[in-house]
Amino acid sequence: HLSKRLQTVMSLIPKNAVLADIGSDHAHLPCRAVQEGIAIKAIAGEVREGPFSQSLSNVQALGMADSVSVRLGDGLDVIEPGEAKVIVIAGMGGELITDILERGRAKLAEETTLILQPNIREPGCRAWLASGGWSITDEAIVEESPHFYEIIKAKRCLTGEARLTDEELMMGPVLIRNQTPVFRKKWALREAKLQLILQSLEQTRETEAVILKRADCLKTLKMIGT
Ligand code: SAM
Repeated sequence: HLSKRLQTVMSLIPKNAVLADIGSDHAHLPCRAVQEGIAIKAIAGEVREGPFSQSLSNVQALGMADSVSVRLGDGLDVIEPGEAKVIVIAGMGGELITDILERGRAKLAEETTLILQPNIREPGCRAWLASGGWSITDEAIVEESPHFYEIIKAKRCLTGEARLTDEELMMGPVLIRNQTPVFRKKWALREAKLQLILQSLEQTRETEAVILKRADCLKTLKMIGT
């Protein structure tokens, strides 16, 4: 069973491609993508021994060893340049994702499609893409309460530099355009949270003002010797 988050990641994978899922953990996504005829072959990359062996046994149990290659290694080290047309990196922090991409730059070909699902720091991923000449071609957002997950699909930009406004970096250019109910909910909740923080800051300021005023009174009282 794939989570809603991984199902949504899968829905953005173009058909008939060789897929690399980097940081695959259990290899659920690559197995399902091949089973459903979305990917023709897949590579499951994992840096940790435990999840790697788990992935191996999952793939063997499904009898999919011919179509899903499980590989132990760091980031994009597990693939040859251009070997996988689609690279998925999901379920980790945005910084780790961009670090993996940055270190594996040599493995990214002209026709590579990236599908990224940062758990946090989505803006950092978008900034990395924009500055590296990638353009965001699709995005999705899902809610798995209490979390919201954003998924970013990118291809090489054909028209030079891909500029994003601050708003687009933060909220996603396609997500802003689509304004789905989940997107609206995420940002409405974020706004409510920020309003609370602002209110409590305001209260702190008021309390401080009262204390300062009292201190002033005390000083005055001392000066006039009462
Ligand atoms: N991609 C799956 C998903 O979205 O459900 C698994 C997410 S899991 C939280 C993150 C996985 O990434 C872990 O299994 C971790 O070992 C792996 N990982 C972390 N850094 C990695 C790296 N540099 N190269 C490959 N895998 C890495």
